[in-house]
Parts: sequence; structure tokens; C-alpha cells
Amino acid sequence: MGLWIPLVLIFGTVGAVLLGLLRSGKIGRRSYSNEDRPEAPGPAGSLPDFSGYPCGHEKPDGPSIVEVYGVKIAVEAASVCPDCIEEYLNRYSTRCASCRQPILPGMPVGQAWKGSPFPHTHMTMECTESGGLYCGRWGQGRLVTLHELEPDKFPPGTPNVVAHVYKTGKPTSID
Ligand SMILES: [Zn+2]
Ligand SMILES: [Zn+2]
Repeated sequence: MGLWIPLVLIFGTVGAVLLGLLRSGKIGRRSYSNEDRPEAPGPAGSLPDFSGYPCGHEKPDGPSIVEVYGVKIAVEAASVCPDCIEEYLNRYSTRCASCRQPILPGMPVGQAWKGSPFPHTHMTMECTESGGLYCGRWGQGRLVTLHELEPDKFPPGTPNVVAHVYKTGKPTSID
């Protein structure tokens, strides 16, 4: 009996600390906001829209190399020429808070930590501290939120998967 009380206390403390970490959004070395992040007005732009590019230029048959924020990126042949793709990507991409490399439209993104230089990261092992920080897909110059991607699963304003799990108490899988 004498031994049980300290054990309960210890495990109780560990549980409380874990809950506290989750509540404050501390993951790994960094803190993350669990505040709601409302959907931005206007279309999410989850698909590339080249309608602003009445490209009359010559198009190569195969892939080509374009430069986005000074980084060379290979792109497939598309309905517009590499010059127009380059302009499009430089206009609508953003930078990763971790590696500072471009996040292109269509890429899944993670929420960046409090005080980060940019609001999102790549969803790679190198750039994010947890898969639970997944917060949507980079669209055409703005985030396509979890709610916009899966309205049945995530209520409006859901900032990331961890925050959703904490608020609902339900395990959540991402398709
Ligand atoms: Zn063009
Ligand atoms: Zn990155």
C-alpha cells in the first residue's frame, strides 16, 4: 500500500505533464499554437489554375527545369510553357519555416512553431517535428485548410491534427 501511493502520484504527474504539453501545443523542442485558424475568404485554389496565363509560347515535349525562389525544380510538360510555370510558381508558392526552400502549390504542409519566420513547413521528416502538425495543403497563394479538404471530418478553423485530437478526444486518421 505504501508503495502504491507514490506510484500513482508519479504516473499521475506524468499524465498531467503530458496533457499540459498537449494543451500548450509543445511538440519536440518547440511550441505550437492550438488556436483556431479560420479559413481565408476566397477560393482555396487546390488545383493549379493557369487561366491567368494565356501562354502563346513554345512548349517542350518533356520535363524542364524552372527556378523558384532561387531553387531549381524539374516540372512536367504542362498546358503552359516553362517560363509561365516559373512565373506561376514564384507568384503562388511560399517558403518552408524549417529549410526556407519553396513550398509549391499542391504540397501538403505542417503548421510551423510559435515565432517561426514563415507559417508553414514541408511535411517531411526533416522539416516538421510531428505528422500531427499536418494542417492542410498549400493552394494557390494560401493554405487549403483541413476543413476545406475534408469538411465532414474537420470543423471550420481546425488548425492541425493534434489540436483536433485534443479537442475531440478522438483518434483521427488522414486519408
Ligand atoms: Zn508561356
Ligand atoms: Zn522544408
